[in-house]
Amino acid sequence: MGKVYLVGAGPGDPELLTLKAARILASADIVLHDSLVSPEVLARVSPSAQIIDIGKRCGRKLLSQDEINSLLVSYVASQAVVVRLKGGDPLIFGRAGEELEALREAGIECEIVPGITAAIGAAAAAGISLTDRRVASQLLISTFSRRPEGNPMNWSAVTPATTLVLYMPGPDYAEVTQRLVDAGLPLELPCVIVSNATSSQQQIRWTTVAKLAHEKKLPAPALLIVGRVASRHIQDVSAAFWRDEPTFAVPADGGELCGNLRGRACFIPPERIHR
Ligand code: SAH
Repeated sequence: MGKVYLVGAGPGDPELLTLKAARILASADIVLHDSLVSPEVLARVSPSAQIIDIGKRCGRKLLSQDEINSLLVSYVASQAVVVRLKGGDPLIFGRAGEELEALREAGIECEIVPGITAAIGAAAAAGISLTDRRVASQLLISTFSRRPEGNPMNWSAVTPATTLVLYMPGPDYAEVTQRLVDAGLPLELPCVIVSNATSSQQQIRWTTVAKLAHEKKLPAPALLIVGRVASRHIQDVSAAFWRDEPTFAVPADGGELCGNLRGRACFIPPERIHR
């Protein structure tokens, strides 16, 4: 009996794989992957391993969740290293819960290898500090379910100091805009669409809640970052923040002057300098 690894492939750039994910891919016997996984990441899979795409195509599922679960259970009987490879992180909108449950019920050993989720890849690509303390106090990762049986998003958790990252916004930006407006978000609130974050096809569009409805559609996969942190000129929305910040005093024991930004010298004490 082998072992199943639920591995996060990250948002696209193969250099964003963890060392552990790269090691497991290189030693895999079989890899079952989602369609979100980039060809560059698949190139890291052991040349002797079997690779099977079990993702969605044009919104149509190749396999149902039950079929995927039973595939995992049956492959692990004959293969030592079975990798279930998912885009981003396996625990964020990845249906990992259902797969883990099936594996546990079948008494199969399983290990989760985290990956960089799309929100983090997109924020890095756009240079957005998701929890910038000047304007944000909480980060909310969500999606709104279009299915009646799905858990609806809790819009009351969205405050003016929330950074909202919306996965799977769909191609209809007018619908997304309507939902944001209905939730009481101001029309001038900044908003960024990031498509194919960290891959060679990456596109970033800076907009606002009001303008979003009329934006040209960007290719999937894409997500939205909504909130004051998504302003290109964050100083404008947080003008008062730095006013009372104390300046650094020169320490008596010296240290190293390492920066002088906005008139504030920054000294690193000698005991903090390791090399
Ligand atoms: N487990 C994945 C998410 C799967 S849900 C993760 O942790 O990232 C699929 C959604 O993720 C897409 O509809 C899109 O909203 C987002 N997504 C995945 N990869 C992306 C990328 N490279 N750029 C932008 N959004 C991405």
